[in-house]
Amino acid sequence: MPNTLPAPHVAVAGAGLGGLAAAGALLAAGVTVDVYEQAPALRETGVGMHLGPNGARVLFRWGLEEALRAVAVRPEALEVRAQDGRLLARRPMGDTWEKEYGAPHLTVLRSDLHALLAARVPAERIHLNTRLASCTPDGDTVRLRFADGREAAADVLVGADGVHSAVRRIVAGEERPVFSGASALRGAVPAAEVPGLAPDTMYMWVGRQARLLVVPVDAGRRLTYVAVLPDTGPAEESWSATGDREALAATFEGWHEDVTALVRAAGTPGRWALYDREPLSRWGHDRVTLLGDAAHPMLPHHGQGAGQALEDAVALAHFLDGTPAGLRRYEEFRRPHTTRVQLGSRGGGTQKVRSSGDGAADGAGSGLDQVVEDVSWIHHYDVEAALADM
Ligand code: FAD
Repeated sequence: MPNTLPAPHVAVAGAGLGGLAAAGALLAAGVTVDVYEQAPALRETGVGMHLGPNGARVLFRWGLEEALRAVAVRPEALEVRAQDGRLLARRPMGDTWEKEYGAPHLTVLRSDLHALLAARVPAERIHLNTRLASCTPDGDTVRLRFADGREAAADVLVGADGVHSAVRRIVAGEERPVFSGASALRGAVPAAEVPGLAPDTMYMWVGRQARLLVVPVDAGRRLTYVAVLPDTGPAEESWSATGDREALAATFEGWHEDVTALVRAAGTPGRWALYDREPLSRWGHDRVTLLGDAAHPMLPHHGQGAGQALEDAVALAHFLDGTPAGLRRYEEFRRPHTTRVQLGSRGGGTQKVRSSGDGAADGAGSGLDQVVEDVSWIHHYDVEAALADM
């Protein structure tokens, strides 16, 4: 914290990746933190996610490098393949990316990352079964009311309560989520079930109607998949809706044997309707602010939702001084950056990769170079260096 005011007491709504990251960063800065989580237990789904170099950099600085490398995979390459298995493009990652960005690109189970972040927050500071219902300013504090009638007070409330954020509704009113026209089916399979795929390589399989992203996680023991399919809706904005196993099998029928082997090994996939929301012109008022998906829910095509939440946490801990002015400085610092990432995620990633092109193995015709270029500035970003430069 940049000044000498007494350490404030911060309430964080939500113990997801963003809320736990924020709580850990604030505790390390000497702030008193209470985290309120609606769920009866701390849990995350066992599907995979990307942690770009910008996010890995934050976690390494928090002393989590060894623990993270032990559970994650540092992919050695990214391959684009046509549905018949033809290699359309290949980009080396591994050392090449780690040297380029100063930190590696890692792929990790959400549950593993969540556990690492939770371990930084003492259990007695996390209040489960506690759903925030409303908050009201009360002099120099903010008064919290929970769904079961309990109350609490804090100097600051951080809404890290995800894409359906109650705190965002308080800050911004009711808004409609923006449906992308696509859904994702997702899950994880044992790597041994698909021996044709290297457990240190990320794959983008592209066909005319569907795309399949396969990434290794769990130290290479599992492969996690996300199939992006056109969807005419109405779609549920949920991370826990169940997908249709038959639909997955029908979509990829006749594709290369590595894909059909993966689909055979997949149980019932989770279904994830791809929504985001329009960027907000403000993230808070008085003693209330937002962080993570509550502030900037984004489509997954840049693999950056969690990475941006980690950067938010660093910035919040930097600016927090217990005053509304400190919160506004945090928001002004983060909002332009996350807005650019949020808008760039629309139509990014596999959406840009083409299934045919003359450039085959060098990637020139596949669009892969553009995909990598699109996220390069995000991966280079060093939130602490940006704070130090101010
Ligand atoms: P959440 O993880 O949604 O956590 C919100 C928490 O708040 C939850 O625990 C919820 O129970 C709790 N809560 C909600 N309402 C209340 C309330 N009223 N009171 C108390 N608690 C409440 N990002 C990446 O960086 N890379 C990826 O590759 C990637 N892939 C993804 C794949 C999937 C399948 C999904 C679903 C997301 C992916 N993302 C990815 C996005 C990333 O996971 C999110 O951006 C990130 O989880 C946001 O964290 P959060 O803490 O802001 O929100």
